[in-house]
Amino acid sequence: MKIRKGDHVVVLSGKHKGQRGQVVRALPGQEQVVVEGVNRVKRHQRTTQLRKRAGIIEKDLPVPVSIVAIECPKEHIPARIGYRVAEDGSKKRVCSRCGEGL
Ligand SMILES: [Zn+2]
Repeated sequence: MKIRKGDHVVVLSGKHKGQRGQVVRALPGQEQVVVEGVNRVKRHQRTTQLRKRAGIIEKDLPVPVSIVAIECPKEHIPARIGYRVAEDGSKKRVCSRCGEGL
């Protein structure tokens, strides 16, 4: 999976199209990511021995990684991610159109 925790992404399709946020959790096994503020739902909770207060909590549910993309900082469009090997031998993510680092 090319998108990681901490990336700023934009949603490309579906109900949350156009929303932006930071990836707070990557779930490579499910090919999903949790993006802050995207796919937010309200959950009703009852009291338990641990949690004395009942109420509504808000939670961000995972979305398929296939519908989000990192925006190219240079072109300000969703980037297709490519890789380039830096001088020190490490792999760097880049925009596959213009080569800008992501
Ligand atoms: Zn670019």
